[in-house]
Amino acid sequence: MGSAEMPRVGIGVDVHAFGEGRPLWVAGLLWDGEGLAGHSDGDVAAHAACDALFSASGLGDLGSQFGTDDPRWAGAAGVALLAEAARRVTEAGWQIGNIAVQVIGVRPRIGTRRAEAERVLSEAAGARVTVSGTTTDALGFTGRGEGLAAIATAIIQPVTSPL
Ligand code: MG
Repeated sequence: MGSAEMPRVGIGVDVHAFGEGRPLWVAGLLWDGEGLAGHSDGDVAAHAACDALFSASGLGDLGSQFGTDDPRWAGAAGVALLAEAARRVTEAGWQIGNIAVQVIGVRPRIGTRRAEAERVLSEAAGARVTVSGTTTDALGFTGRGEGLAAIATAIIQPVTSPL
């Protein structure tokens, strides 16, 4: 089982299709072009980051924490979900080390606004969030520009109570 004091890692993946003529929110930023369909704003980077936090802490996943049948989260901003996820993980006794997010797709070009995205997501999470982007050599739904994917890892550690 390992020591309760050991840090824990988590992983999260999210995918949304382009469509529905919505604004494009990715990594907490508004971008030009057609947006992503979804129950919330479709921000794959923020959603993957949430799932990485829930994965690491054992709190479940985005679906169980922010149910799609719960009207409170309909249309919710990804950064709002990330802030709430971080709050719940912290409340459960964990300190967030950092979160790394990679966005996979042909647009938007994350690298053009990477520092801005990292600042917005880090503020939401209350911990360092780094953001990178990659493409898939024109292969698959991301390569064809049909949708956007993101993968995230997080590391957290239990808050040790003072003696
Ligand atoms: Mg999502």
